[in-house]
Formats: sequence, structure tokens, C-alpha cells
Amino acid sequence: MKELLVLIDRQLESPGLLGIGFHLILEEKFERDVHQERSRQLTYMGGVAITIYVLFLFNDLHMRPDHFMEAVIIRVGIMAPIALACIFLLKRGVTPALREMIMSVLICFAMLFTALLLQLSVSAHSFLDLFALGLIVLVGNVLFQLRFWFALYTSIFNIIVMLYLVNYHPISFDNAGLMAMMVFCAVTIFSIISNVRAEKAERLSYLLLLREQLRVEEYTDKSEEFRRLASIDPLTEVYNRRHFDCLVKSLISKHASHSLQYGVAMIDVDKFKCYNDKYGHVKGDMCLKRIATAIFESVHPDVDIVARFGGEEFVVLFPSTGPRDLLARAEKIRQHVRGLALPHADNVNQGIVTISVGVSAVGTGDAYRFESVLQQADEALYRAKSSGRDRCILATGVEAKMNDEPTIA
Ligand code: GH3
Ligand code: MG
Ligand code: MG
Repeated sequence: MKELLVLIDRQLESPGLLGIGFHLILEEKFERDVHQERSRQLTYMGGVAITIYVLFLFNDLHMRPDHFMEAVIIRVGIMAPIALACIFLLKRGVTPALREMIMSVLICFAMLFTALLLQLSVSAHSFLDLFALGLIVLVGNVLFQLRFWFALYTSIFNIIVMLYLVNYHPISFDNAGLMAMMVFCAVTIFSIISNVRAEKAERLSYLLLLREQLRVEEYTDKSEEFRRLASIDPLTEVYNRRHFDCLVKSLISKHASHSLQYGVAMIDVDKFKCYNDKYGHVKGDMCLKRIATAIFESVHPDVDIVARFGGEEFVVLFPSTGPRDLLARAEKIRQHVRGLALPHADNVNQGIVTISVGVSAVGTGDAYRFESVLQQADEALYRAKSSGRDRCILATGVEAKMNDEPTIA
């Protein structure tokens, strides 16, 4: 995306002589993006052009009644099927270059067959149609808006055919051929100028629009990254407390009061100050990181919310988990941290890093506020500490709701 933005800026700064040549990568993207719409437009314009070409039979009827049948054959029998074949090809899908080539060939055929029609006729007024041939050039350069180089080569071809006609077609008035040629050349030049200006404008507006789209994408990506960075704790890479509070608020507000069942686990690393004192802060940081990962791996990551509450404390919110299952969920976390077997010589009786967990829950219909549930979990954690650490303790209020043994040590 960045590369493309640099290319666009470079293209806008130095658009080149005609302003219609893009860098290869941009050119490919440009053609890819506009191809479908341009093909659609060309099929419509092709239809309009061939209809008018056929309607010129009325003109043939008056200008060359001697060869009217030939005019019907050329306009209806030859050119109309060729135009329909071109439209069919465009509808089926061709490459951008072939698309332009097909439409250029259509213009060249129209010029050639009209020239043939003029040559066949011996009618005295037939030469007047020389003044109308500029219409074919207009169709290519303005109506079809052929890409500049195709428009240019097609126009050169048309000028050659016109030169032949003014030299070899019988003309009843002196200098009428010269005048027809001059009108034809003027129409060709004006339409080529119009063609190049239109293509330049199309490409410029494409570049500006693309630049805006890419910038919006870039800002969106960046702001998403900033939002992500603002929500996670840089050391442990779980959510920080601020984001945890936001998530909890929105989760609880989504449910009508009393309809959400959830549990909370407050987790504290045992004797972590001693760990730092013995192994140093760097090792202490690594240890916190391993513990956070272990906690995260022990929960359902799509549902449960893990956050660093501060220092060596973590909190887990278990939505849709009632008091009965909560202890087992907390116990799984505790066992997982024990399973890491991180040496901690000063964690008396254990020799490894352990955690204490206080859990509390709200069952459907309970009127507890989240802050109260958190406080209950904190009190349970305090009890887990004072009763020997390395254990999960249920909050007193929650214990009452269960008949099971509340403490697992
Ligand atoms: P207890 O079992 O009672 O929880 O004992 P404790 O030593 O873990 O508790 P205390 O609150 O006295 O000490 C917490 C320590 O956690 C203090 C501090 O050195 C350490 N700590 C807090 N945050 C970080 C951190 O980001 N990195 C490191 N390495 N240590 C931290
Ligand atoms: Mg603590
Ligand atoms: Mg501690």
C-alpha cells in the first residue's frame, strides 16, 4: 500500500508530457480497476454508433440511389454484424489492450467500407459525403474515447484512407476535395486533443481517488493498531486494566440487569517480591510473561477475558459461568501455572512459582454489582494467601450457594 502511495505521488508530481503514461504497476492497477466499467460503456456506445451508421441508409437513398443495394449490404450485411461481433467479444471479456484494439478495428472497418461505398457510386452528389467522414473519426476519438495511442493510430489510418478518396473519388467542384480534406484533418486534430484531455482527466481523477482510498485504509489500519496497543499490557500481552474495565462495562450493559451469569477470578503470584529479589527483575518479567500465557491458555480465549490487574496480579472474567463451574475453571489455571514448574526457591514448601486465586460469581437473578463481585473475589484471594497460598478459594457469598466443598488446595 505504501509503495503504491509513493508511486501515485511521484506520478502526480511528474505526470509526463501528455499526462497519460503511468508507471507499469499503476497502469496495471488502473486498467484492472476501470476495465469492467469501460467495457460496459463501450458496448453501449458501440450499439449507438452502429445504429446511426445504419440509419445513414436514408442518406444513401438520396446521394447514391444507383448503389443503394450495395449500401444496404455494406451497412446492414457487413458492418452491423462486425459491430455486433465486437460488442459480443467485449461482453465476453477481453484484455484491456484487446478491448481497445477491437474498437479501433471497428472504426477502421467503418472508414474502409464507407470509402468503398463512395468509390462504387457514380452519382454526381456522392462526393458530398466526403464532408461527413469526420463523423467516423469523432466516434473513435470522442464517443469511444479510445486510449490515446489507439486513437492516434486509428486517426492516421483514417487520414490515409481520406487522402486516397479525395485523390481518386470523382468530385464535381474544384477544390472541394481540398476543403473536405482540411475539414477532415481539423476534425481529427480537434478530436485527438479532446481525446487526450479526457484521458488525462480520467487518469488524474483516478489517481486522486485511489490516493484518498489508500490513505483512508492506512489511517484505519494505524488507528486499529493504536487501539490494540492501547488495550494490551506491553509486558504480558494480555489486556490492561483500563481495557478490562471497558469490556466488562459493555458486556454487563448489553445484558438486562440480573440476566447475566458470570464469574471473576483474582490471581496473585505467590511471594513474587522474593522471586525478584532472588532472580532479578528481568527474570521476574519473564516469569510474569510465562504466567500470563499459562492463564490465557487455561481459559476459553473467545469468551473469557484475561487482564493484568496491576503488578503481579491478574484478573479473569468468565461470562456465562455460574458458581458451580467456577472453582473448576480457576483450579485449571492454578494447575497450569504449577505445571510450568518455574523454580522459586524462596516460595516456601513449594520450590516453584505458584499462584493464589480468589473467585466470586454472580448467578442469574443475583443483584450484585460488578465492583462488589470483584471485591468478594479479592477478599477470597486474601483468604487464599492467609490460609497457605497456592490455592483457589471461593468467596463467602458464593460458598453459600453451593453444597460442594468450596476450597481446593
Ligand atoms: P504475596 O505472596 O503475599 O503476594 O507476596 P508478594 O511478594 O508477591 O507480594 P508483594 O505485593 O509484597 O510483592 C509484589 C511484587 O511484585 C513487588 C514487585 O517487585 C513485583 N512486581 C510487580 N510488578 C512487577 C513487574 O512488572 N515486573 C517484575 N519483575 N516484578 C514486579
Ligand atoms: Mg500482589
Ligand atoms: Mg503476590
